[in-house]
Amino acid sequence: MYPTLRETLELTAERYPDRDAIIYPRRDQRFTFAEFDERANELANALAEMGVTKGDRVSTMLYNGSEILLTVFACAKLGAVFNPLNYRLPAGEVEYILNDADSRVVVYEADTREAVHGARDALDTVEDYVYIDEDTPAFAHDFYPLLDDASGDRPDTVVEEDDVYAFIYTSGTTGRPKGVVHEHRDMVEHNLIVAAEGGIGKTDVGLSALPLYHCAELHAALFPRIQVGATSVIHHDFDAVAVLQDIERYDVSVMFAAPTAWNGMAHTAEQVDADVSSLELGMYGASPMPEDVLDACMDAFCDDYLQAYGMTEIGPCGTFQHPDEQIPKQGSAGVPALNHDLRIVEPDADPRAEVDQGEIGEILFSGPCTMREYWNRPDATKSSLRTADGKEWYYTGDLGYLDEDGFLYVVDRKDDMIISGGENIYPTEVEDALFSHPDVIEAAVVGEPHEEWGEVVAAYVVGATDAETLDEYVRESDALADFKRPREYNFVEELPKNPSGKVQKFKLREER
Ligand code: ATP
Ligand code: MG
Repeated sequence: MYPTLRETLELTAERYPDRDAIIYPRRDQRFTFAEFDERANELANALAEMGVTKGDRVSTMLYNGSEILLTVFACAKLGAVFNPLNYRLPAGEVEYILNDADSRVVVYEADTREAVHGARDALDTVEDYVYIDEDTPAFAHDFYPLLDDASGDRPDTVVEEDDVYAFIYTSGTTGRPKGVVHEHRDMVEHNLIVAAEGGIGKTDVGLSALPLYHCAELHAALFPRIQVGATSVIHHDFDAVAVLQDIERYDVSVMFAAPTAWNGMAHTAEQVDADVSSLELGMYGASPMPEDVLDACMDAFCDDYLQAYGMTEIGPCGTFQHPDEQIPKQGSAGVPALNHDLRIVEPDADPRAEVDQGEIGEILFSGPCTMREYWNRPDATKSSLRTADGKEWYYTGDLGYLDEDGFLYVVDRKDDMIISGGENIYPTEVEDALFSHPDVIEAAVVGEPHEEWGEVVAAYVVGATDAETLDEYVRESDALADFKRPREYNFVEELPKNPSGKVQKFKLREER
């Protein structure tokens, strides 16, 4: 039988009982692997006392901390389903996800109290609340006393590789968040792939400041470290100065952040007196690293950077752009991850309808960490998972192409593509052209139905300028072919975004 997420911690606790597993400076906590394993047993036994059994959903509304990690491993020990929510969600969204997931328990804290309490009356299935900070409401259990009263023995539940480990909801960029159902085996496979691709080993110290409710930080950074016996320093949330200081304090060797955060850290490093020479590898995702940001990071930190491209549904890592590929393949997302197959096909077509090399099509992955299904969404599951040539293919909804060396370039999201006069327009290209104007702060474009052309480009702009100026700028810059030029400009205060900051174009289209 294949090991489960539960064993990634338990076996490490047996191999390296005294190595540091989790350091959480905010609460002055430091757990060795043996201590962390025991604390997770306590929480598992406490949840079992509440009646939580295999398959029950345990949701978190938590910022980063040791508590969200204890919850994930406590669930893994019981075969319960971990369901982390974005800590920035308002009450309405909390209500939607907890009801969609049929959540049984919610773990939350002072910083998320308002949203959870706001949703509480409408939660159909939640029976127990666990609260972390002082002033625990009368209806909730008190997190730390709960652990202190529970046994630290390992629960005797048998958990198997194809049991569900979690419902992880997607970010909600292209519609309502979807519950991605991942099994234990997906995570064990994913851990090994990330550790091998990034060269993560037991002497590494990683710092987690990106949200642990998201699979980028939890699956692509934290879990692999638990599996190999490396140390994790946890920050409640992202603060560039605090990160730089703790890189020095804990000799941090690896960290994951988005390119925008790396950029902020590189510029902050000029003003903060911190020795960051321990850093060996900078990991990033969400977008390629612009050349100037890569330069700034290489000046401020280490020489080696590793990009991951992927999505919640596949683990998330589907491709990696390795350190030696950063400069020669700037703008690319790299090559398929270990044990992953990738194809570019006609959008929505059969997995065998591959396009020619260099042509843009929909990106498909086949790999060992792909989700079982979308929770409660049989139609979405059916259209995104299709079998061909003895493999199951996941349809990413992203468009991209391969260069002559097999490197992937991600172009845009399929749903956002605009077709005008039979020609494809990729919004990112138009947005980049607008954004290059110094008075434009943000720009997003969508298709506007048009009798003659099918669609024309409509732009939404945040910034201090006007339609005439921008139109003239775009014409003169020669950056865009005439059919790509926006035919309409809307100046807005802000663009609709999900809590992770991605622009929700479906909302712009709905408004029209
Ligand atoms: P939803 O599925 O609910 O619309 P989402 O797709 O934004 O939300 P995530 O799974 O968090 O939810 O994000 C995955 C998406 O992020 C990918 O499909 C891709 O569009 C984008 N992405 C991730 N990494 C990269 C990268 N390295 N380069 C370019 N795009 C990336
Ligand atoms: Mg998605």
